[in-house]
Amino acid sequence: MRQGLEARCASHAQATAVATCARCGGFLCGECLEVEDAAPYCEPCLAWRRRNERASGLAWAVMVLGCLAALTVLLLVPVAGYFFFGGNAGWNREAGFQLIVLLTLLLGAVSAPALVLGLWEGWRIRQRKSPRGGQRFVRLGTKLGGAGLALFVCEALYAVYVAWAVMSVSLD
Ligand SMILES: [Zn+2]
Ligand SMILES: [Zn+2]
Repeated sequence: MRQGLEARCASHAQATAVATCARCGGFLCGECLEVEDAAPYCEPCLAWRRRNERASGLAWAVMVLGCLAALTVLLLVPVAGYFFFGGNAGWNREAGFQLIVLLTLLLGAVSAPALVLGLWEGWRIRQRKSPRGGQRFVRLGTKLGGAGLALFVCEALYAVYVAWAVMSVSLD
């Protein structure tokens, strides 16, 4: 068995194999050899690998939740700004306050799962249990989720403070 010297390419019978595919183990000549992440692959296996490296559904979900958190903040900031600095003229403060509470709850509802699922999926990607194609989505979604959750905590404390302030005013 002098296999190492005599191995021929699986596709080109005349060509000497220079490597074996990291996935299927097929012999590859220099022409058939594809290299990715310092590993040799045949063309079908490389195509399979790239398909498989697409972002998982969970990675997509993390990014969508993170973007929703960012969108909620974009709505929340002007509403809260107007509530605190916009004065009273032509402005239903009670409705404004309810809108802030609603947006704050929405922020918590999207940012907490974005952060938790993002950390979970990020760990799975590092463990090679999930395709690395989702890495960028997971990073973005986790950051937005983390920032959103931090703001949610601040907003929740603020909401409690405002509720207390509104009740004090109505007692006067
Ligand atoms: Zn292969
Ligand atoms: Zn070949």
